[in-house]
Amino acid sequence: MNADLERLIALQRLDTAAHDAERRVAEAPEREKALDLRLERARQAVAAAKETLAANQSSRREIEKDVAVHQGRLSKFREQAMAVKTNQEYHAIQHEIAFAQTEIKTREDQILELMVHADELTADVKRADAAHVTEQKAVEGDRKALSAELDELKSAVTRIAAERQALVAGITPQVMAIFELVAKRRNGVAVAEARDGICTICHVRIRPQVFNTVRRNDEIMQCDHCQRILFYVPPAAASPENAGNNSTAGSAAR
Ligand SMILES: [Zn+2]
Repeated sequence: MNADLERLIALQRLDTAAHDAERRVAEAPEREKALDLRLERARQAVAAAKETLAANQSSRREIEKDVAVHQGRLSKFREQAMAVKTNQEYHAIQHEIAFAQTEIKTREDQILELMVHADELTADVKRADAAHVTEQKAVEGDRKALSAELDELKSAVTRIAAERQALVAGITPQVMAIFELVAKRRNGVAVAEARDGICTICHVRIRPQVFNTVRRNDEIMQCDHCQRILFYVPPAAASPENAGNNSTAGSAAR
């Protein structure tokens, strides 16, 4: 194989790997935000559960105050009942007493209902608290994993940059200029495999004469359509390892 072409294939592999790593690094703040959001949601669930419980308790206190008022009136009527002179007065007081008792009973039923509901709401708060703690641990773990991944990606970018520099030093400057120009215009992918007479990235058919030259891998040939530098993988050499290499350029968009 043409030495420049061989290096260009390796160079493309490095550039694609660097590009992927840089993209992952760039996505990190977005992933951080998603983790913050998960924590915030769990925090909000706890706050909402506590608020509902507090509202239940404050309703209960209000109703208890009402009960106290009616009980006050009830005692007053009972005292008055002792001092009534006429039958008519007695019945009137009895009516007031019955009314106050009904009011108290209604409110005591409401209080009971609120107390039963408060047990459920207390359980809700506990559940939300537990879910929050679980989420905190999970997010903490994800943060550590993300941080480790970032370190790994950043060191990969540095490693690739050094490899690239060494590789570029061995490439003929004119050939390198073609690579750089095409890479700039084609979203960083300047090398494409030619297979079955077709450029595997832009999918346009290569002229038979050009394809025949490409098959020899001894010249720098460009796709007429996308201008990418073409290389050919002989069928016999299409082992899994080589297939992996091909995907370097082949996986990118047209
Ligand atoms: Zn093409």
